[in-house]
Amino acid sequence: MTTHAIESIFILVAAVFWLASAYWTVKDARRRIDDSWLLVLAAIIGLVPYLGPLVYMLFRPPEYLEDVRERELEIRAMEDRLSHRGLVCPVCRTDVDPSFLVCPICTTKLRQACATCRSPLEALWQVCPYCETPIDAGASIVPRRGD
Ligand SMILES: [Zn+2]
Ligand SMILES: [Zn+2]
Repeated sequence: MTTHAIESIFILVAAVFWLASAYWTVKDARRRIDDSWLLVLAAIIGLVPYLGPLVYMLFRPPEYLEDVRERELEIRAMEDRLSHRGLVCPVCRTDVDPSFLVCPICTTKLRQACATCRSPLEALWQVCPYCETPIDAGASIVPRRGD
């Protein structure tokens, strides 16, 4: 092999590596950056041979857009749950369902059950809406098992 041939191979490998790293930079940026101008900037930086991708790695956003979106959805779902129900255990702050009589985590009594049909009752109700039994504050307290 002539020196010239070795040189050509070296340049070819260097060029392939350069293009691959630039391609990787653009691909990675598209998964992390939402802003088109920042994407263009990332692509330009990625095209700087060898140093560009390194610089990009130092400044790229730490999270994938998918993850950010997923987390936002989760937070929104959590907010929905809180605003729709707004029910948490007063003692341990666990989310509780409106139908729960006691908190499943700390066993705090959350509401009374109807003496006749055992439906969970709101504190202000004067009559059970499910079976029409008048609510007597004293009588409708469910005896707790073990008491
Ligand atoms: Zn609780
Ligand atoms: Zn009832």
